[in-house]
Amino acid sequence: MIYPIVKFGDPVLEKPSATVTVFDETLQKLIEDMFESMYAAHGVGLAAPQIGIGQRIAVVDVTFKEDPNAQIVLINPEIIHSEGKHTQSEGCLSIPDFRENVTRPNKVTIRAQDVEGQVFEKTGEDLLARAFLHETDHLNGKLYFSHISALKRDLMKRKIRKMVKAGEW
Ligand SMILES: [Zn+2]
Repeated sequence: MIYPIVKFGDPVLEKPSATVTVFDETLQKLIEDMFESMYAAHGVGLAAPQIGIGQRIAVVDVTFKEDPNAQIVLINPEIIHSEGKHTQSEGCLSIPDFRENVTRPNKVTIRAQDVEGQVFEKTGEDLLARAFLHETDHLNGKLYFSHISALKRDLMKRKIRKMVKAGEW
């Protein structure tokens, strides 16, 4: 099932999500649906709040279907190590048509649970590191524009408010 993507303005995007405690078939199905929804929206990462579900679940595939082994499921993730710095243009499915340069660590280690509840750690660099950070932020109720200057952020929000008024959001 393909879920519609929730856009900025919906409070679910700015609330910390709840810890997942039940690892069952419902969760498995939700994760399948999240990958399907992410690909349908042409994204390389998707967090559950972006489909209106306030649970600490995210999916990532920075190869966008090219490598079936690149699919990563992150349940209850936390960044346990980060190093370096890298600035790159970043977007978000929940803030369509906008991109901004965001500086983030360029190498991070994440600890999370998989679909069966097994804890694992994974280190990612570059785009994968960025995806880990961006999706973990989502689960903490943070959007990427919290990492840009207040001036740029206010400008973005103003443009979005205009689009909402015009029925274009
Ligand atoms: Zn996002």
